[in-house]
Amino acid sequence: MLKLIIDAQRWRNHLTAFAKSCPGIVPVTKGNGYGFGHELLVQESQRLGIDILAVGVAQEVASVRQYGWDKDVIVLNPWRPGDEVAAGLLNDPKVITTISRREDIAALRDLAPSASILVEVETSMHRHGVPADEVAALDLDGFDLRGWTIHLPSGASLDEGREMARIVKQHPLASRGIWFSHLSCDDYIALSKKLDVPVRMRVGTRLWLGDANAYRVTGTVLDVRWLPKRTPVGYHRVKTHADGYIVVVSGGTAHGVALSAPISARSLRQWLIPGAEALQQMVGRVISPFTIAGKKAVFAEPPHMHSSLVFVGGPGEPTHVGDEVPVNVRMTTATFDEISLV
Ligand SMILES: *Cc1c(COP(=O)(O)O)cnc(C)c1O
Repeated sequence: MLKLIIDAQRWRNHLTAFAKSCPGIVPVTKGNGYGFGHELLVQESQRLGIDILAVGVAQEVASVRQYGWDKDVIVLNPWRPGDEVAAGLLNDPKVITTISRREDIAALRDLAPSASILVEVETSMHRHGVPADEVAALDLDGFDLRGWTIHLPSGASLDEGREMARIVKQHPLASRGIWFSHLSCDDYIALSKKLDVPVRMRVGTRLWLGDANAYRVTGTVLDVRWLPKRTPVGYHRVKTHADGYIVVVSGGTAHGVALSAPISARSLRQWLIPGAEALQQMVGRVISPFTIAGKKAVFAEPPHMHSSLVFVGGPGEPTHVGDEVPVNVRMTTATFDEISLV
């Protein structure tokens, strides 16, 4: 199986230290929960005494609640007409809806005139957000306006944060506060001191994944077989390029393992839409994320749903059935069979 092993004490020390050094953070628990899953992130947020969680989409509100989260939740993706789940949460006083267009404010007034909202302002990312020149005149009467939200591009400067705050301050309800993303902790603290409104910051990656040595991923070796050079193997009967071992190891497309294969997008496409000939050309050249006998093994063919066939040259058996070998995965796209805190 593909397993995420967390050094509980080390991970929790990091979470505690981060939350302490960056007070008022809003932990983000969207998607696959940064690999840890919503249940664990809810538990850790409770342990940290957090008062509000951020989820990506309205559909994720039920998930964090299922695991016991009973405080406020902010939905990061901006509300749009037609999302029935999001509409069903508009009158829930513990759910904050993000609004990013003037016409949505009008639509919301008909549906839920006292909804809890954050209003998103367009930044240099040019993703979502009300354009800066529309902010001053927005009519937000009646809503439970919790503040303004600003999603800066990663590595954004303090200056851009300050400039965005200046835009928000043109609105009479600027004092409700400003929520940032992607400021450094130092800049966040500096801005909190400088601005005379409450400031908060949403953080995912730096919080949950900030100490890469606090967790590791392993796959179980399921089979080890020596084969002579040019033996056809796998679904596609591609011939091995040398004498050596075919190792079958847990971790496949269902776990998101192919997504972390360190090859170019073009080769990946060529490789995942297999023609036997194209595959044969790639044999021995596509490095897998599995480390076996101290080295990254090459894929013998594209990963299957739950396991992968990799090739390791001889002589000498490189690993044994039952061994747990290190796997490099991208945590935000990985799904694990088991998560264990040790
Ligand atoms: C996902 C997201 C974040 C968290 O991003 P990280 O890089 O994981 O910290 C913050 N703000 C918004 C609006 C997001 O969508």
